Amino acid sequence: MTTLMIDSGPAAAPDAPVTRVGGVPLAPAGTAWPHCSACGGPMQFLVQILLDDVGGAARPDGAAPGPVLAVFACQNDPGGCADWDPASGGNRALLFPAEGLEPIPLPRTDDPAEESDEESDEDDDAYDDAYDDEENVLLLEGTRAVARAREEESDYRRAREAWAARSGRPASEVIGQLGGAPAWIQWDDTPSCRACSRPMPLVAQLQEGIDPGPVMNFGSGRAYAFACEPCAEAAFLWQC
Ligand SMILES: [Zn+2]
Ligand SMILES: [Zn+2]
Repeated sequence: MTTLMIDSGPAAAPDAPVTRVGGVPLAPAGTAWPHCSACGGPMQFLVQILLDDVGGAARPDGAAPGPVLAVFACQNDPGGCADWDPASGGNRALLFPAEGLEPIPLPRTDDPAEESDEESDEDDDAYDDAYDDEENVLLLEGTRAVARAREEESDYRRAREAWAARSGRPASEVIGQLGGAPAWIQWDDTPSCRACSRPMPLVAQLQEGIDPGPVMNFGSGRAYAFACEPCAEAAFLWQC
């Protein structure tokens, strides 16, 4: 069984508490916008994944909603900050409890090192500015909804082809998978949890996305986001 991620067009709201590509990141109040360890600049927000949307063991009825994964990668100097490397500090995967999340205020783009630490009525303008700033692209252009499609096939590529054949839609609308086994382009690079040292389960495997739409930069390859839910740890990498 493979749970495919299907690009389902523009999402209703950039701050919706749903699995989506692009939009604005949600986090607990007071969370600072993540900055790149290599260049010091603010990173780009890529995707938000609800772990409840990921296949695998069902949560018990009445259980609290599962955590939310937010993924960032540095695009200030594409290729220069090793944002494909889970240990470089050029990307960040953060796992948050689902309750009480709100949009992370954008850092001030005129000074990458300065973090905005208070809410202000300029936030909406700041988000608009980020779309226009070619040197500091902190948000993808637009927000894409993600639908899930389950295919019996356990091989990702074959599941993708089966979905396209069954739906009559282009395989390019399949932008990844939720859970399951990573379909590696190169070697198996499953990260270990920093806290418990166990191999981390895959949360989502992603492709760059379809044009027009928010296109992420994975060197035309695939990205992989992992999380150890008990330890609230997450990791992100890409291969091409
Ligand atoms: Zn950087
Ligand atoms: Zn762990």
